[in-house]
Amino acid sequence: MVGDGSGLSGVPELVFPEFGFVPGKVGFAARKDMSFAWSIRGKTLNLTLSDYLADAPSDVIADFTRGALMRIKGMKPVFGKAYLDYVTSDGFILVKRPVYMRRSRNILPDGHGDVRSLYDSVQRLMDRGLVFDSDIGNTVFVWTKKPTYTRLGYCSTLMRMVAVSRALDSERYPEEVLDYVVYHEIIHLRLGYRPFDNNPHDAAFRRYERMYPDFPAVSAMADKIPLDNPQRKRGRR
Ligand SMILES: [Zn+2]
Repeated sequence: MVGDGSGLSGVPELVFPEFGFVPGKVGFAARKDMSFAWSIRGKTLNLTLSDYLADAPSDVIADFTRGALMRIKGMKPVFGKAYLDYVTSDGFILVKRPVYMRRSRNILPDGHGDVRSLYDSVQRLMDRGLVFDSDIGNTVFVWTKKPTYTRLGYCSTLMRMVAVSRALDSERYPEEVLDYVVYHEIIHLRLGYRPFDNNPHDAAFRRYERMYPDFPAVSAMADKIPLDNPQRKRGRR
């Protein structure tokens, strides 16, 4: 699963000085998300990169490392084309997504629930002209194992995986609410992978979101679902 890491060789010596750092310990570690960890002493920076890049070529690792160092420096990171092309390729996603899914503990293997199917939901959205083939290429839809109430849906735009709370695999909520949650996550896919994005629900996102039919009413229904969390009810006096 993890490559020999040879793509890393020479990268710290090349990139670190661009940011005024001296390479300390640099390597890969298993992380669920595409991210990094670091520590610093003086000018010496230790950096651990997600092992999703362990078998990547040097230019890709260099691009990611530059982005990471920009973040460490408190700059807005820019991720180079070599990195972005590499991680958004179908080949990368097909190989790394199963690893990501194994590391995501609260998900089922696919979108067939007890009561509802996420594939049916996607098909309805396509039939209504809300979602297009180009939005959902190379994407998997899965239910969470246990219902989650604070977050009804989750999207990894990098791994192209949408997970929907098992709470919605139920007759308790209208199909329309499930479809709305799936639609919300698909908009994230449509807008694509934006590394370390701290504003995923930007103006472009909200514009698409409001295209959902009866958006105010349907989103209000979805917003009330967290109140049904049994743990919350237990805690209430
Ligand atoms: Zn969202």
